[in-house]
Amino acid sequence: MANYYVMGIDVGSSTSKCVILDENKEIVTKNVIPVGTGTSGPARTVESALKESGLSLEDMSYIMATGYGRNTIEFANASMSELSAHAKGASFLFPGVKTVIDIGGQDAKALKISDAGTLDSFVMNDKCAAGTGRFLDVMARVLEVDISEMGPIGLKSTSPASISSTCTVFAESEVISQLSKNVPLCDLIAGINRSVASRTAGLVKRIGANAPMAMTGGVAYNEGVLKALEAELNTTITTHPLAQLAGALGAAITATEKL
Ligand code: ADP
Repeated sequence: MANYYVMGIDVGSSTSKCVILDENKEIVTKNVIPVGTGTSGPARTVESALKESGLSLEDMSYIMATGYGRNTIEFANASMSELSAHAKGASFLFPGVKTVIDIGGQDAKALKISDAGTLDSFVMNDKCAAGTGRFLDVMARVLEVDISEMGPIGLKSTSPASISSTCTVFAESEVISQLSKNVPLCDLIAGINRSVASRTAGLVKRIGANAPMAMTGGVAYNEGVLKALEAELNTTITTHPLAQLAGALGAAITATEKL
């Protein structure tokens, strides 16, 4: 039995995430529910974490909420911006990281991290779906491919298709038109992954990013985007199986510091 437990909840635009830590910052339980703010996702992610750990909300010494929908978690002790939470979570997963690229369901961010492992500055695209998980989700649906297959299939391509439209709606028409011309699926997907990477690389260059670099957010699981980003930025980018949970983890770590 731990001395205390804390909970970090990240209510995103597309997914809801929850992490419970003990006093040694060991993960007791974690989960991702694939629906975000305004849905049953936030309640389900908390319920599932409590059920799996056999703990109750009363067992939590501090609950920190973050993410786009953080203010909807009424039982949280406090909330923090997803930028600070991702910076904190990423510094935990990737000690010494200087630049974090976070691509979620509805936005993409490049974060500069201080020597102390906190947020220094950031650049963000939250105005346009292109360059975010939403763009990839739309394309995966058109291509009838599971989102988790977008990376592996794209990596098979030796001749990525060119996707010239920067707008998601026009790019969707472009992909449908190329499909009807029998452009191979792997080339189309590689072109789509590249398009997200080149938009994100623009953000990273704007912030004047330094190595070592790491990637968080659900799109970090797309190895095609990751490899294309490495090529665009001419550097290696580290990721982690918990990349999508970086915000919830950062919130939970901040909760331990409040105690
Ligand atoms: P948010 O915090 O904004 O709700 P997330 O960081 O959870 O978003 O990222 C959600 C996005 O991650 C989805 O839109 C999807 O494109 C991508 N994603 C989720 N799981 C995978 C996976 N297994 N492989 C590739 N991409 C994924």
